[in-house]
Amino acid sequence: PVHVEFRGVSKRYGQTVQAVRQLDLEIMRGEFLTLLGPSGSGKTTALMMLAGFEDTTEGEILIDGQRIDNVPANRRGIGMVFQNYALFPHMTVAENLAFPLEVRKLGREQVTRRVRNVLDMVQLPEFGNRRPAQLSGGQQQRVAVARALIFEPNLVLMDEPLGALDKQLREQMQFEIKDIHARLGVTFVYVTHDQTEALTMSDRIAVFSAGRIEQLSTPRELYERPAASFVASFIGESNRMSGTVLTGGENGGVAVHLDDSDVVLNAMSYGATLSAGARVTLSIRPERMSMLQDGATALNVIAATVVQSVYVGDHIRLVAVTASGLKFIVKLAASSSQLELNAGEAVRLGCGREDCLALDR
Ligand code: ADP
Ligand code: MG
Repeated sequence: PVHVEFRGVSKRYGQTVQAVRQLDLEIMRGEFLTLLGPSGSGKTTALMMLAGFEDTTEGEILIDGQRIDNVPANRRGIGMVFQNYALFPHMTVAENLAFPLEVRKLGREQVTRRVRNVLDMVQLPEFGNRRPAQLSGGQQQRVAVARALIFEPNLVLMDEPLGALDKQLREQMQFEIKDIHARLGVTFVYVTHDQTEALTMSDRIAVFSAGRIEQLSTPRELYERPAASFVASFIGESNRMSGTVLTGGENGGVAVHLDDSDVVLNAMSYGATLSAGARVTLSIRPERMSMLQDGATALNVIAATVVQSVYVGDHIRLVAVTASGLKFIVKLAASSSQLELNAGEAVRLGCGREDCLALDR
């Protein structure tokens, strides 16, 4: 069932800044949904309108089918975690967590039980008596998560909560937060500009660009079938070249002539049916291309010259260029036999139809 719904929600700051444009989004109960996009694309604004810290300019926001965009923030029953957590420095961790409950006049026993539960949840059971200054950055962030859970909300919002942590800790916390989500079973709406983080944590990802959702899909679908060249460029690495459709075919198969070259590739279009003459961006993931050995063949074969070949541990990163100047990046399995590739060497690159996506926007 739908838990949260944005219906035609827009947000303008002043006369000129349109931060969110006609946002339609349904978030399912218990889902881990991430808003992913570059800085300034409207993610925080969308989250703040849901939390009740920003007004909407247009549209409606519903929780469980009830309009809440005019309900004050503290009555929406939402837990929140921000990047810059602020704990009261003179209070212990347990006192910090208990404080909002005591303000609401919950009984002592209930307060103690809830504080213990949330500290267990974030794996800090022994830390109740410490002061914030005695915690590492990662531990403080866990306390911030604990604080968001103290009212036992069924909707938790997080805005770049791991942004201040170093890479290793950030990766560890991604799995911990995902695990907390799985154990609680409540709805999480998470904001990040980090595509790896989004792919790692989410059930579904809404890719934001300029205040709009470009695509809303599962991580796998977003990576394997980006619907727009913006998504293909923002999520993972891709070879992208513009071209013109020569022939449209059955079931989304198309032949694309790449601009300023003699290269024609067989590709797939999963979106609109494309007819001859349509302008497209062709997107090919580096790991979906291979280097063809003598005698081997593929549906698409591209003759090229090696520019650079670098061993990077789990793969070899090959850069090759065609006679007409098209550049391809190819990731080859490091275990494959083509370890010795020198600049200037002639190679044949191969890929199938499904490896080449023709995108019309
Ligand atoms: P994101 O979180 O994706 O980085 P934001 O929602 O913070 O994006 O910002 C979206 C747009 O709205 C940006 O152009 C930003 O400069 C603008 N913006 C955000 N907050 C305000 C504000 N309080 N006043 C004016 N403009 C704002
Ligand atoms: Mg933001």
